[in-house]
Amino acid sequence: MSILGKCPYCDGSVISKKITVKGKNIKLYSCENSKKEYDESEQYVFTADSTCRFRVYSNSFLRYNKRSIGEFEMKKLLEDGQIVVRLHGKKGGNEYFKYAIPHEEYGISILWDEEVEEKIS
Ligand SMILES: [Zn+2]
Repeated sequence: MSILGKCPYCDGSVISKKITVKGKNIKLYSCENSKKEYDESEQYVFTADSTCRFRVYSNSFLRYNKRSIGEFEMKKLLEDGQIVVRLHGKKGGNEYFKYAIPHEEYGISILWDEEVEEKIS
């Protein structure tokens, strides 16, 4: 568990944790004030003492063929308010770059309408 930076939406720190989802090891980058638990009906819900919803799963962009959002990318996102992510078409097809920004509810979202001028290495 390590602290990556400040939450964009509250005073909390964003913490990196290793978790297992459906047998896969991924990372969860979560504001310390954003906590979830299973309720009586097995729904995964925010706890009563959660005051923030900011959570980013490292596999958030899996559907765009980005396997994982790394801790370094997450740190940069918190510091700069945006990052450039490398995404791929289906079956390893053409790669392309987009800006990603924090999102209070979804954790992270892609700015589809903005072109990325410079590629980063
Ligand atoms: Zn927060």
